[in-house]
Amino acid sequence: MHEMSLCEAIIETAEKQASIQQYKSVKCIHLEIGELSCVEAEAMHFAFDAVAKGSIADGATLHIDRVPGQGWCSQCEAKVKIKQRYDACPICEFYPLDIRQGDAMRIKDMEVI
Ligand SMILES: [Zn+2]
Repeated sequence: MHEMSLCEAIIETAEKQASIQQYKSVKCIHLEIGELSCVEAEAMHFAFDAVAKGSIADGATLHIDRVPGQGWCSQCEAKVKIKQRYDACPICEFYPLDIRQGDAMRIKDMEVI
């Protein structure tokens, strides 16, 4: 499961930060997940709970914000909203578009104790 390895990476980051910033546990993690990134929020919650067990983020709450997909059309030079990575330009139907936003996941914020 793709979400499992993403969660492992998040916990790894949290533990690395803990030794630098000297906190003992993570209360809550805010994530930004792009709508084009093929990451299911529900699967993330499920995977996170499993992976976080016994780690510094055990029992932490996961908040997920979805970031809408945005592409740039090199033919009509418009910034357009897209729902899927392989969508064509809604204005001129040019394909492929340049993905400008919404294809990544990042940790936005972490609340620690
Ligand atoms: Zn276009």
